[in-house]
Amino acid sequence: MQLYPIFVSLAHRAVLVVGGGAVAERKVAALLAAQAQVTVNAASLTPQLQRWVRDGLVSHRPESFRESWLEQVWLVIAATSDRELNARVAALGELRRLFVNVVDDAQLSSFHVPAVIDRAPLTIAISSGGDAPMLARLLRERLETLLDHSLGALATLAAGLRKRIRARFPDMAARRSFYESLFSGSVAALLRQGRADAARAAAEQALVSGSAGSAGSVVLVGAGPGDPGLLTLRALRALNEADVILHDRLVGAGVLELARRDAERIEVGKQAGHHHTTQDGIHALLLEHARAGRRVVRLKGGDPFVFGRGGEELEFLRDHDIPYEVVPGITAAVACAAYAGVPLTHRDHAQSVRFVTAHCQASRDTLDWAALAQERQTLAVYMGVAELGLLQTRLLEHGRAATTPFALIENGSRAEQRVVTGTLGNLAERALVHTVRSPALLILGEVAALASTLAWFGPPPLGATVHDIRGAAGGRRAVAAWPGQADVLTAIHGR
Ligand code: SAH
Repeated sequence: MQLYPIFVSLAHRAVLVVGGGAVAERKVAALLAAQAQVTVNAASLTPQLQRWVRDGLVSHRPESFRESWLEQVWLVIAATSDRELNARVAALGELRRLFVNVVDDAQLSSFHVPAVIDRAPLTIAISSGGDAPMLARLLRERLETLLDHSLGALATLAAGLRKRIRARFPDMAARRSFYESLFSGSVAALLRQGRADAARAAAEQALVSGSAGSAGSVVLVGAGPGDPGLLTLRALRALNEADVILHDRLVGAGVLELARRDAERIEVGKQAGHHHTTQDGIHALLLEHARAGRRVVRLKGGDPFVFGRGGEELEFLRDHDIPYEVVPGITAAVACAAYAGVPLTHRDHAQSVRFVTAHCQASRDTLDWAALAQERQTLAVYMGVAELGLLQTRLLEHGRAATTPFALIENGSRAEQRVVTGTLGNLAERALVHTVRSPALLILGEVAALASTLAWFGPPPLGATVHDIRGAAGGRRAVAAWPGQADVLTAIHGR
């Protein structure tokens, strides 16, 4: 080990910062957070430093640096752009056995300021000894995403109970196991929800009963549309804490890679029309693993509450007294719209948006087609590609104009994303020409026309030009997906 790490209490202790620029300002901010008594030495100060001086939080010495000031301080930070001055401050500090940090100069520094993750009273500090500060910063960012902000409250709560826990569990192994359950069970979950009082009560109860409960729990997590970058921080944390992950087939490999390495992964793949694991089967698995005391993540594509049967799963868990949490995800409509450059609402074109599913016969029969056919609204249709023909026919029958633009987004937000555009009158034909496959989402409404100008991700939208109809029909063998498609196909192929 090159450096000896320590955490220093600077509360009400004098610290000198030489320099008054942006870097000095950052250092002062951190020192103030640690309640240090800061003196800044510089002829001119940033506006923020000036404000702190005005508010009496920082003392200011505008004259040139004086050696005698070192007599009164515990630490020194040299943050000027004057190398000579920095070196002089470092040398004089060394003479007085003061620790000096010279910003961006590891050689001259006798202490380094680490990259910090603040979950007070929990503090995580990372140092590369000044050799690779960018790497330390990167690591900090990674860890920052993984550690919930409620960790600080958890540490405080545990600290308050420490003596009693020690008395209750004199045996080290028993104590450790109690702490583990405290940190991963319902007490931690309550704190994540910001329910400090309930968490404290649960901890007290646990202390009485002797266990914070190894009762398992389920987190229903929305994985978003595929791009791992669209996971929420909460989803990432849940994936990192999971013992078991029950995931849909639609959840991409990139997302699963972010989960805890040794978490058991079980695919309960569901595909439109093909249910590999029945809903009852999924319920049984949730129950089995949660009852065995495991932290189960039920990972679903998009958002769990948008055409994801998340509600049914929660009802089941509730009926069986399994604690649960829900982490929302970015639903396909929202993601596809964003990645295709189609604003779902627009002052000039659409004042409302409807999320519709046309996956099964029942959903199609119960849809209010007349309402769906109204203008100045956007339809975001979750569906199998086979339903497009019927959708087109019904909407036209109910009066939606054949000229209404659409954007059909296949594999939205993924590297393979394709967008096909056209108008309601040629919707099914266009899908067929370009052999659009699942998963695909249809956006229908005036806003869809904006895809041709606002698209920014993946290849440009496949608009209806004679050229691309010929090209696509000639290059691919389209397969009829519904009765009548074969005719369209024949028409295009000219056979
Ligand atoms: N709960 C999910 C939807 C499940 S239904 C969500 O909130 O997104 C499955 C349908 O979602 C698919 O048939 C398709 O219409 C749509 N879908 C999901 N992911 C998609 C993607 N990456 N690109 C396009 N459509 C997608």
